[in-house]
Amino acid sequence: MTAPRLCLAVFLLGATPLAAAGPDVDPRIATLLAEVSPARLEATLKKLESFQTRHLLSSTDTPGRGIGAARQWILDEMKSYSPRLEVSFDTYRIPKQGDRVTREVEVRNVMAVLPGRTARRFYVSGHYDTVARSVSGAAAQSASGGFDWSVGDNLAPGVNDDGSGTALTMELARVVAQSGLSFDATLVFICFAGEEQGLIGAKLHAQRAEAEKLTIDGVLNNDIVGNAVGGQGVKDTGSVRVFSEGPEDSPSRELARAIRRNAAAYVPEHRVRLVARYDRFGRGGDHSAFNQRGYPGVRFTESKENYGHQHTVDDTFAGGVDPEYLARNARVNAATLATLGLAPAGPVVVDERGRPLLTREPSGYDARLRWKPSSGATGYRIFWREAWTPDWQFERTVGNVTELVMPSVSIDDFVFGVAAVDAEGHESLVSAYVNPSRPDAPVQTLP
Ligand SMILES: [Zn+2]
Repeated sequence: MTAPRLCLAVFLLGATPLAAAGPDVDPRIATLLAEVSPARLEATLKKLESFQTRHLLSSTDTPGRGIGAARQWILDEMKSYSPRLEVSFDTYRIPKQGDRVTREVEVRNVMAVLPGRTARRFYVSGHYDTVARSVSGAAAQSASGGFDWSVGDNLAPGVNDDGSGTALTMELARVVAQSGLSFDATLVFICFAGEEQGLIGAKLHAQRAEAEKLTIDGVLNNDIVGNAVGGQGVKDTGSVRVFSEGPEDSPSRELARAIRRNAAAYVPEHRVRLVARYDRFGRGGDHSAFNQRGYPGVRFTESKENYGHQHTVDDTFAGGVDPEYLARNARVNAATLATLGLAPAGPVVVDERGRPLLTREPSGYDARLRWKPSSGATGYRIFWREAWTPDWQFERTVGNVTELVMPSVSIDDFVFGVAAVDAEGHESLVSAYVNPSRPDAPVQTLP
């Protein structure tokens, strides 16, 4: 037993157990977080509620009521925040389709872009459209899970689903654009439409992004993030859930880990509970539209849900949205967005053929990690963990090099990853070394 222990001792030399470490805290990011205003969030929620419905098929030309008035208000509001924001409708016309889009309709996402030094993007999103069970059309309701999808103008306040994600997205657009910080990444604040009809606005946007070959490094989707009291009366104002699709070292999982890491540094009173699945059972969200196109994305959802207040006329401000809780969730988003936006891009850890740059050199029993330099990086941070654990256990910061050898460390027993760090300590997403899947080679048989 002596030899393995010795190996571990050598291996850990210079390493820090992750629980004792954390990213560097930038006081400018802390200042930005302090600007997130519960009072402003509350005012936005009440304004969104005042439109009575924001259903995709609701009125587009009634002053003060329906999706047309709502999206125009969101657009004008985001334009007012800062001349640095490029605010526009992201518009598509779609024909009648499926059982939820019962006529031709225009889908307009509302988008605010804060250009960075590079074109790679991080997103914060929510959906501003709403739905509620109609009181009429009983036959149609029973045939489609309780909804008459052709009824677009019934009362559907949607203050939590997803006025909360919309208000959070707008508030982040404001505080980030007004912060005076200049970011390496381009930051996009987007309020989607048509989510309730099947992630339509997000799917259309992700399709367009793919066609235009945009680089999207992460999507922070917020859907149902403002209510702190569950339907059974259990209250939790101290945590938020983050759902991410696997497998275990997918880019979405690295984004989830980065959220918890930055939250622990900047919003330590708020706990991020990571959930290793793409969403709740039977439920969906706009992040999945990006995942399906290969983009990393996660979903924030409140800790305790009240299903009785979702997709009903009871989804009102008075129904239980807590602006202070929503503000803490907004700060978790902002800490992650600002850190990743300021940091260099995550290092590339694969060769031109997609193979991980991880070998047993030089002895044949060592771990040799290589990576390609990230523009703007002044150092790199290596993370590792045993290969049957979800969380990084150890980290070690190295200088501006592109290689690290860990003597006598089995690359088979541990998972490794590398983040790029800039001169001010902003840490990128971790790029993990993933064991590639083996192609199937059929065995030939004789007749
Ligand atoms: Zn929703």
